[in-house]
Amino acid sequence: MKIKVATLFPEMFDCMHIGIIGRAIENGLIELDCVNVRDYSKDKHRKTDDCPFGGGAGMVMTVQPLHDCVNALDPGREYKRIYMSPRGETLSQKKVVELSKEQKLLFVCGSYEGVDERFIELDVDEELSVGDYVLTGGELPCMVTINAIARYVDGVLGSEQSVEEESFANGLLEYPQYTRPAVYEGLAVPEVLLSGNHANVNKWRKEKQIEITRDRRPDLYEKIRPLLELEEAKKRKRKKKGGKSDE
Ligand code: SAM
Repeated sequence: MKIKVATLFPEMFDCMHIGIIGRAIENGLIELDCVNVRDYSKDKHRKTDDCPFGGGAGMVMTVQPLHDCVNALDPGREYKRIYMSPRGETLSQKKVVELSKEQKLLFVCGSYEGVDERFIELDVDEELSVGDYVLTGGELPCMVTINAIARYVDGVLGSEQSVEEESFANGLLEYPQYTRPAVYEGLAVPEVLLSGNHANVNKWRKEKQIEITRDRRPDLYEKIRPLLELEEAKKRKRKKKGGKSDE
């Protein structure tokens, strides 16, 4: 996957070269190219911002450096161009999976009070938010987005790290995880996880997922509830027929 980033602070992306994503970049699974928007400013002082027309607080990123930068990075308009913005669609796991299917992504990070609207009109395919709060720049939202997407790129996660069983993947939050020791400070790991009975382990995990999602995220639970009820009804039907249950 090829990822390009237009930002006033390319050095912030140095931390992308650490850990799992760093290894993916090193192995060529992900190409990450971060470019300074300021390098494209035609202003003699390399300015990239100005006062807002109509007055108001703060500065606005000017259209020229952004337009020239993005079109130098993507002259053939081959990349999906995403402007990180609190006004955009909120990032979700569904959106992450959707974006992970793209081969070429170009992210634009805003600063100050944001960007001249004409840049969005001319050069942006979509706006993307990381939540209903405002940060000082688009760099952290962009890194969050790239990190989440990169986990879905083939070969980035080891086979032992599956994205399929994680929170949100099946509409539910994750079940509790435990590792050695079996008892710590008097707290024992649930017996079923030590039983070696995979059917029981799976049943326990699913129940915990449902319980945790219902308690912590009723909004998610309400969405998945019809599906869970359907699964339950199917199980009951199979049991009635004397068939084998999945548990
Ligand atoms: N004046 C803007 C508003 O009220 O929506 C906020 C601008 S913010 C201080 C500067 C830049 O940070 C934005 O242009 C955007 O690129 C980025 N940013 C801030 N919060 C964000 C969020 N929740 N999601 C995505 N990008 C964000």
